[in-house]
Amino acid sequence: MTVTHDPATGVPQPAPSPAERDRARRHLVPHFTKRAGWRDAEFPIVERGEGVWVWDRDGRRYLDGLSGLFCTNLGHGRKDLAAAAAEQMATLAFTPTWGLTHQSAIDAAEAIAGVAPAGLDEVFFVSSGSEAVESVIKLARSYHLANGDAQRTKIIAREWAYHGTTLGALSVTGVPRMRAPFMSMLFDGVRHVPGTIGATVEHPSEAAALACVRAVEEAIIAEGPDTVSMVIAEPVQNGRGAVVPPDGYWAALRTICDRYGVLLAADEVICGFGRLGRWFGSERVGASPDLVTFAKGATSGYAPLGGVICRPELVAAIEGSPLGGFVHGSTFGAHPLAAALVTATVAAMRDEGVVEHVAELEDHLRERLDALVEGHDTVGERRGTGFFHAFELVGSRSAGRPLTDEQSAALLGGLLTRWVWDAGLLIRADDRGATMLVVAPPLVSTVDELDELATRLDTVLERVDAFVSSGS
Ligand code: PLP
Repeated sequence: MTVTHDPATGVPQPAPSPAERDRARRHLVPHFTKRAGWRDAEFPIVERGEGVWVWDRDGRRYLDGLSGLFCTNLGHGRKDLAAAAAEQMATLAFTPTWGLTHQSAIDAAEAIAGVAPAGLDEVFFVSSGSEAVESVIKLARSYHLANGDAQRTKIIAREWAYHGTTLGALSVTGVPRMRAPFMSMLFDGVRHVPGTIGATVEHPSEAAALACVRAVEEAIIAEGPDTVSMVIAEPVQNGRGAVVPPDGYWAALRTICDRYGVLLAADEVICGFGRLGRWFGSERVGASPDLVTFAKGATSGYAPLGGVICRPELVAAIEGSPLGGFVHGSTFGAHPLAAALVTATVAAMRDEGVVEHVAELEDHLRERLDALVEGHDTVGERRGTGFFHAFELVGSRSAGRPLTDEQSAALLGGLLTRWVWDAGLLIRADDRGATMLVVAPPLVSTVDELDELATRLDTVLERVDAFVSSGS
């Protein structure tokens, strides 16, 4: 690569984006990106960030309306987090949590236990959300083995739910397009049941009668209750677009799980660490899970880390069994750097009242987003809560007309993403079960920044309206 230098200062200058894009295409394999979006598109190369903003190599500024990927909850460029990372690296680079441990892991586990849902006290660390889901599958299995229930291996999960890409997590994932290429390699013990989209109740006590709840019990019975290990669900489901369960849904799941001796896991990889205006989404939706998976916001995205928080009884049962302990682990689980960032993230969230801030501003955000729905006939519905929302796009809300297949394909094939970037925005065009735009701003966003997000989104929706009304 040719490096150019500022003629006055001699300081190396950033290469212009076309050259960098070529370098990227030559050496970097992108995630979940189709050829056209990589080989032919002018994707941004993000260079730096500050607060809710990031800048690309051409100096363009974008509002990070998805917190990276639900990660940078505290915003970019935090000197306190950078200092915590630097201090940890200078103090101790690495020691495993395997027979021995280190101070950083202890501090992080205690910090998480201090904010976790009631009764969940012990933390197993890994390096990503997918690994957290792998671990929860194995933890549940190990608990049943410890109890002499070796036949309990099956899992009930939900359609369209995304739980990760490693083969165990992908088996649990309910997104057909992501499973299809690997179907023959997935494990056969997962049953997917409908999620809660469209389900409503007048009173929480009616939830038990909902089709989506009965489907869970029916699946357990159909599989044979003594063969089922775990039910797993997100407090608010991302796949299918920020689906908020009806009141009483999670209480009904708890009752069913207790009835059949099945464990209940909440996948909080997105909902954990403040996204829904509570430390964990479980609190928001009235869930009392046995196990909680987390990742992303646990370090505010400053280092890769995930994990499982569990009831101490589960760990005690496993340790007291012939297994003697959890037969699972990884080199980088509880990595000192990532663990230090957990402690620093939780401390900053406490000190700055970040969870309370989300609870305080969530109505404002929702009202701003609902005003966009009013203004755009191509928005069928806004769903979500806290700082986590999705817009489902249609042909015409007023006429009850869906998008045509061609319109959806064009919008999801690059138009939405292009218009989002043109608006100086980073949010997600999502195809999981509908044509959607997903919004999840950093949890530290101010009123002005949330308004700016809505303003920029408005311009994207204007282009959607124009595209649809042009009959394209
Ligand atoms: N579970 C949920 C609910 C997720 O949203 C994700 C990722 O978005 C995962 C698991 C997988 O996490 P990762 O991408 O860190 O492997």
